[in-house]
This record gives sequence, C-alpha cells and structure tokens, in this order.
Amino acid sequence: MVGSAIVRRLAVEDCEVLTASRDELDLLDQAGVRRWMADRRPDAVVMAAAKVGGILANDRFPVDFLSENLVVQTNIIDSAFRSEVTKLLFLGSSCIYPKLAAQPISEDALLTGPLEPTNEWYAIAKIAGLKLCQAYRRQYGVDYISAMPTNLYGPGDNFDLNSSHVVPALMRKAYETKRAGGKTMQVWGSGTPMREFLHVDDAADALVYLLKAYAGDSHVNVGSGEDITIAELARAIVSVVGAEATITFDPTKPDGTPRKLMDVSRLFATGWRPRYSLRSGLEQTFSWFLRHIEQGDVRL
Ligand code: GDP
Repeated sequence: MVGSAIVRRLAVEDCEVLTASRDELDLLDQAGVRRWMADRRPDAVVMAAAKVGGILANDRFPVDFLSENLVVQTNIIDSAFRSEVTKLLFLGSSCIYPKLAAQPISEDALLTGPLEPTNEWYAIAKIAGLKLCQAYRRQYGVDYISAMPTNLYGPGDNFDLNSSHVVPALMRKAYETKRAGGKTMQVWGSGTPMREFLHVDDAADALVYLLKAYAGDSHVNVGSGEDITIAELARAIVSVVGAEATITFDPTKPDGTPRKLMDVSRLFATGWRPRYSLRSGLEQTFSWFLRHIEQGDVRL
C-alpha cells in the first residue's frame, strides 16, 4: 500500500523509479537483495516493505513480525550501503513508542517505557531498523533517515478480516452488512481506544518531502495531528458506506494501546499539511474499494 503510493507520488518528480515486486525479488534472500542492489545501483532507497498486520495478526504471529522484519530491513539497509547508496529512507510505525507515552507523542519518547504487548514484536524490529540507520549515519556518514508514520489507510490496503488494520476491516464489515441488509456491525474491543489516521497518499507526499529535504539523525513522526475513538471511526465508516447498522462491541478482542497520537510539530514546522480530512479520505478509499471489487482484484 505505502510503496505503491510512493511510486504514484514520485511520478511527478524528475526521477526514474525502480521497484522490486514480490515475484521478482524475495527480500528475505540476502544474496538476492545484494545482487539486485549491485545491478541497479539506485541513488536513493525508500524502504516501505515490511511484514505488517493488525492487532490480532501481530499478537498471533510474533516470530513472523519480529524475524521477517529484522531480516528484510537488515538485508536492504546493508545491501544499499554496500552498493554505495548515500540516501535511504526507512519507514517505521507509531507503535515504536511506549504504551503509556505522554500524548501527543514526541520523537523523544522513544525507549522511555514498556511497549504495548500486542505489537511489541513489530515495534522491536522497527526500533532496530531506525537504530541501524542511525548507526550507519554515525559510523559511515551516509544520509540514512527514518520516518514514523501513524496508522495509514487508503488504496491498496489489506481487506482480509484476520490480518487487516481497523479501517479496511470496518469498511469491509460495513459494506458486507449493507449488502446483506444486516442491522448490526461488530467492532472489536471496547471502541474507546483512540487512533490517529492518515491517508496513504498524504503519507507518501510527506515521505517524498522528507526524502528531498530532511537529513537529520532523529526519526520524524508523520501523522495528521488528530485522533478519534474507534467507536467514532466506526460510525464515520458506516456513514460513508451508507450502511444502516448499529454498532456492537466484542470485548473478547484486544483494545491494544489506549491512545497513540503523535506529536507532528517537527513535520508541520516545515509547512507540510495533509490534504485529506478523515471523511474525504474514507470516501476516496471506499470508491477505490468498490471499483476494485468490480475489477476482481479485491476479493471478499
Ligand atoms: P493497532 O493500531 O496496532 O492497535 O492496530 P489495528 O488497526 O488492528 O487496531 C486498532 C484498534 O481498532 C484496536 O483497538 C482494535 O481492537 C480496534 N478494532 C475494532 N474493530 C476492528 C477490526 O475489525 N479489525 C481490527 N484490526 N481492529 C479493530
């Protein structure tokens, strides 16, 4: 999802974009990644690839989330350095911060307290990745930077209910409820956790901006600066989809961290702002979803 959005955004820049599809290159294969990088010799690398998933997938597959991410990111960062890539942008996540960090969470909150247990495996891998970029910077003077995006959603998202994040999950549930003429839609947990959301095209815009203009040691938060409760999000999605359903809550599913609103003042100080409101971003994503169901590449 993020990689495709970055490719869309780079189409208006004066550059040649090289991508590596899953069929073409297995990022877990160190020799393959080294070869790919040595053959192409890019000027800059954006690392959007990761093993990602929602709250339940993270909790159920700790080895996959920790090990695959450590291997993939180390392969890419190390191969980029060997091929003399001087600019690299590593993408992390807002879950790198302590579970009970003061809100909004500034970049300096990193490693100041225990992580949220449902996604600590992914978080530990991402913390190692951003530290590896800092380490290459310090030891070798290369301009390897990191950005920490908030919860992203948009075209190309994963709509599988067992592994997806909350926005695509609720969009699919609302759509299926409407189609079946259902009267209720189930939301996991209590509905009280708060989350910040950013449309993936806004995220891509901020990331390309950082790639061009940022060269600092610290990672940079990328978010919208606003959050809402999961219950409010569910109501917004039901309304965008046009389902006439009341929302019920499933307390057997985890809530995760109570709140993770990021402090985006470093990014906003540059003048950058998102273009989509949450409402317009959800509407745009829902039309994409409908189009792609018709085309058959989103399967329910
Ligand atoms: P998180 O931000 O790492 O916790 O990841 P998620 O996007 O998976 O979940 C965010 C919040 O939405 C959590 O409090 C979930 O319990 C809640 N949620 C409610 N319904 C759903 C659902 O159907 N799928 C997912 N993934 N989360 C849901």
